[in-house]
Amino acid sequence: MKIMVAIKRVIDYAVKIRVKPDKTGVVTQNVKMSMNPFCEIALEEALRIRESGLASEVVAVTMGPSQCLDTLRTGLAMGADRGIHVESTSALHPLHVAKILRNLVEIEKPSLIILGKQAIDDDCNQTGQMVAGLLNWPQGTFASKVVLDKEKKEVTVDREVDDGIETVQLNLPAVITTDLRLNQPRYATLPNIMKAKSKPIKKFTPQELNVEIKPDLEIVEVTEPPKRKAGVMVSSVDELIHKLKNEAKVI
Ligand code: AMP
Repeated sequence: MKIMVAIKRVIDYAVKIRVKPDKTGVVTQNVKMSMNPFCEIALEEALRIRESGLASEVVAVTMGPSQCLDTLRTGLAMGADRGIHVESTSALHPLHVAKILRNLVEIEKPSLIILGKQAIDDDCNQTGQMVAGLLNWPQGTFASKVVLDKEKKEVTVDREVDDGIETVQLNLPAVITTDLRLNQPRYATLPNIMKAKSKPIKKFTPQELNVEIKPDLEIVEVTEPPKRKAGVMVSSVDELIHKLKNEAKVI
């Protein structure tokens, strides 16, 4: 059984994001980029399934400019068997990514696709749902536990929902998106980083996969969040309560 994992290169989660002066987006030049944290969790889960003997191969897929190869190499160093890079310099929106994944499924024929629940750069939280819709496959989103039954061709997914955990059972092939508590991703070790250099990477363009990258939405403006007001020091609990009651009016 083959598992396909979608990994996205994004601005590192620890970087302080700066909005471009013309408000068309955020500054990405000379900024540290890393694998989207939810994609690391997705890859870790696929590797654990393979290591438990339930899958034979993990294929990592990334889409974007040539620099995405670094992210793919990180995925291979974590343990993916091979990589696919769909190279595009145009902005890729969730529907484009979902269509590319759908068309890769025809070539790769995986039984499971695992994605992050969202990319921390665009916060869309759409791609997994869209690819499941396009393929007409069942989906288990926001997964905090995944149990695969290879014999029954089923996967049981605990989903983090607002008021607790919802458990769903999906027939394979299926799509899973990962939440934060699913696992703790491993670090790539130096020997594995070296080994990753010789793992195979297939290259495609969106056109070769019959996906036209037409801009389907326009980012009108990106602005910084409002600056937080400076705090004040109070000299007593009574003063604090007075301020909360009469100035902040929250009690
Ligand atoms: P989003 O819907 O944009 O929040 O992204 C959700 C998930 O879709 C990510 O965590 C990735 O697993 C996958 N994804 C989105 N964009 C890409 C991309 N350019 N390359 C590979 N995977 C992607």
